[in-house]
Amino acid sequence: MHRFLLFIVFFATLSFAQAEKQKLKVGIRTNYPPYEFTSNERIIGFNIDILHQLSDLFSYDLKFVKGDKETLYQMLDSGQIDFISFCFQSQENKAAYNLSIPYNMVSFGIYIPYQSSIKNPEDIMPYKVSLQNELLYEMMGNNKKFAGHLVLRRSQNQCLQDVINGDADAAIISSLSGKYLIERNNYKMIKVPPINFKNLQYSFAFSKTNDSLLVQFNEGLNILRETGTYNRIYQKWFGEVHPNQITEKKPIVYWPYYVLALIIAVLLFLLINQRRKYLDLKQMKSKEIDIRHNAERTLYDYQLLVEGMVDTLPHLIIAQDENKKVKLVNNAFAQLIGQPKDEILNKKLDTNALPDKNLISLLEHKGGEQKNQNYQIKLVDTNSRMRTFDISKRKIKKATNKETINFLVGIDITEREQKDEELKKEKALLTSLINSIPDLIFYKDRTLKYVGANNAFKKFNGFKSEKDFIGKSDATLFDKKKAKDFKRTDQQILNTKERLELSVWETDNDGNRVLYDTLKVPIVDQNGELLGIVGISRDITQQADIQRQLQKAKTKAEDSDKLKTIFLTNLSHEIRTPLNSIIGFSDLLTDPDLTDDQREEFTELINKSGASLLALVDDIMDLSKIEANQIQINKNKFNINQVLIDLHASIEENRDAVHKHAVSLEYYIPGNEDEALYFNHDDFRIKQVLSNLIKNALKYTSKGEVKFGYRFTENEIVFFVKDTGLGISEEDKKHIFENYNSGKSIEQFGGSGLGLSISKKLVDILGGKIAFTTDELKGSEFFFSFPLKDHSTSQPVPSTELAETYDWSDIQILVAEDEQNNFFFIKEALKKTGAKIIWAEDGLRAVEEVESNPKIDLVLMDIKMPNLDGYEATKQIKQIRKDLPIIAQTAYAMSDEKDLSLQAGCDEYLTKPIRPKKLLRKINKLL
Ligand code: ADP
Repeated sequence: MHRFLLFIVFFATLSFAQAEKQKLKVGIRTNYPPYEFTSNERIIGFNIDILHQLSDLFSYDLKFVKGDKETLYQMLDSGQIDFISFCFQSQENKAAYNLSIPYNMVSFGIYIPYQSSIKNPEDIMPYKVSLQNELLYEMMGNNKKFAGHLVLRRSQNQCLQDVINGDADAAIISSLSGKYLIERNNYKMIKVPPINFKNLQYSFAFSKTNDSLLVQFNEGLNILRETGTYNRIYQKWFGEVHPNQITEKKPIVYWPYYVLALIIAVLLFLLINQRRKYLDLKQMKSKEIDIRHNAERTLYDYQLLVEGMVDTLPHLIIAQDENKKVKLVNNAFAQLIGQPKDEILNKKLDTNALPDKNLISLLEHKGGEQKNQNYQIKLVDTNSRMRTFDISKRKIKKATNKETINFLVGIDITEREQKDEELKKEKALLTSLINSIPDLIFYKDRTLKYVGANNAFKKFNGFKSEKDFIGKSDATLFDKKKAKDFKRTDQQILNTKERLELSVWETDNDGNRVLYDTLKVPIVDQNGELLGIVGISRDITQQADIQRQLQKAKTKAEDSDKLKTIFLTNLSHEIRTPLNSIIGFSDLLTDPDLTDDQREEFTELINKSGASLLALVDDIMDLSKIEANQIQINKNKFNINQVLIDLHASIEENRDAVHKHAVSLEYYIPGNEDEALYFNHDDFRIKQVLSNLIKNALKYTSKGEVKFGYRFTENEIVFFVKDTGLGISEEDKKHIFENYNSGKSIEQFGGSGLGLSISKKLVDILGGKIAFTTDELKGSEFFFSFPLKDHSTSQPVPSTELAETYDWSDIQILVAEDEQNNFFFIKEALKKTGAKIIWAEDGLRAVEEVESNPKIDLVLMDIKMPNLDGYEATKQIKQIRKDLPIIAQTAYAMSDEKDLSLQAGCDEYLTKPIRPKKLLRKINKLL
């Protein structure tokens, strides 16, 4: 009956076993009670029960392969079996195999003869000891005190027999095996002192490649422990239960089985449910194992990944434990110090071999726990290249134990540093460049806040430093109107992304008005994204001024061009009129029927026309000299009063009688006119200006008077010419001093329009001022003045007795003149004096004449002559006869000809055309 019930239980259990079973071969030792051994041809033992349970759990089809230790390990190595059941946890085994978590422990005891005095493990040192366990043998052998006394036996029983036979003083074998063997073989001579000599843990051993089985077995062992199965098996083999009870057949008490069978029958369904739950749990566990397994794999892969990554990183990475042993290092660090990675790992770094001493200090880890240290350091690498690193150090505690690991990560910033340096240089260059530009340069971001500007901009706005404007908008920096204007144009650029140019008047920091030409340009990045705007303002005040002046000059030039055309028309008229009368009357003079009066009248008319033509030529010459800046001022002391008297006389002489009758000409001299008033200035030019003004006054006055003279103000001498003529219109007033400019009166009176402009220019050159007042129809007054410095009234007037007739009958005068007509004229003029006139046709002849004729009293020397000119002839004559007076005849009233002739040695000069009276006076003066 009880057998039947047991069968039900067995059958029920079997029915839940999984159909597919994994076939596994396990290597077990032939005879190792109570762990694994054969009894009544059945393989039993603690290890075998554990294996059966695991087999049930994971549905293994287990096959036991028996053998000795070496054979089994060889079979495992060659893959003939899947694992070994009995493998001690030693460093060597761990390195060679995948060991499951230890699933049992073997404790070793000391077995000695009854009479032995050994009480402690140390007592066996000098004695001979038999043992069977290789690991123990090896461990004890490593201890010098035991070495030499140990004997390794193949079986534990042999060890005990060694003690009985006296071959050994003690045996050290598994406590449980010893107990079992003594009892089984009835070894009465052996005693077991209560000494637990050594404990060794053992595990299942799998080949290194078999990870999955390892994980499953570990999990299975945990399940067995958790479900109490392990304890039950342990209890069975090592507890109160004697190993003999397992194999021995003892009379069975059946009634408890009946009760049990009943309970089992009642609880069968519950059991089935439990079984199902259990299977579910198993499945879950299996999944969990898979997950864990995957997790472990992932972890392993991750570890590989991390190692790979660390190695490929260009940064220096090193981790050291508290004893400075290197726990992690990457290629970059190994290369820096020039040592292979494998030689560094798990060792202390050889500081003597480091290429740079700085590295030693770098590897020191100071500071508190977990404290970060960041700094920069310069290191020389194995190629003697100086490199800069950003170092970050950190101390961390391992999670598994309290060990501290010092981590160091170094980023090579050499290139970045160099680039930074280059960038800094570039920036400095750019800054000094834009600061050297006198234009105002500024840049703003997209929100129109200032980002930067050059020195010119700062100076213009009175900003002392960048802080004054950077990050600020126009609204906070400038007045409302200005800020609004700026914003409007800036906004336009932001909207259109197009440049803008504008000219605006601004007031600088010192209150000066400046015209700025501002160019505003959008700043865009390479993707066309708008970043801000840049503005360049150029001061164009001067440029604009120049432009204005140029425009003015252009208009003036155009005006003067027009004037020139008018002038040329006038000039042609002014030349033709006297020329016509000269030619006409000259023709008439040839008429033999002319009366003497007619002849004199015609000659007079020809003279007048010649004089006006000459005056015109003089004016043109003067103007061109003035414009070519060739007018020289020749100052000398002269008597103003005499100049006025002479001028009056010479003008009056040339006026026609009708005009003289209608208009009186008077001069005005302040004070006594017989007293001389000397003035140090250019008398020739002053006379010229006065003469121009007087002639104009007479020209534009048809009745009344023309008065001229001078007067003094506090510090000036003022010459004036006043008339009662037609005056000057408002329109004409603006232009009469300009070149070629005639008033409206030209149509009636003719004229070249040169007189006043020459007069003004001459007065300017002489350092004076010229102006006029006028009242239309009532008359005008022109006056010019000079500062009073060099005049006095103290000199007596030298009397100028003018003889109307001269008797020079004993006088010889040499006339050097290439023009025959001119010679005849002079000869005629001197006819009445009775002087003997000698003619020399050029300079050379004149010199010869003086040489050959010592009676010559005076020479009239023309300047422009062929062969030898007047200057040279004068010089040579003066060398022959130093005292011989020479009067030069110059072509035009040019002051430089006068100077040159005087320099050559002439005593006086006469300007052409020569007036007979003047000629006589000059000759008289010198004779
Ligand atoms: P011109 O007399 O040859 O025309 P000027 O340069 O001497 O040239 O004078 C310029 C103009 O000034 C004259 O055309 C005339 O209209 C005016 N003018 C000069 N002097 C007088 C004056 N005394 N009275 C009236 N108008 C004068």
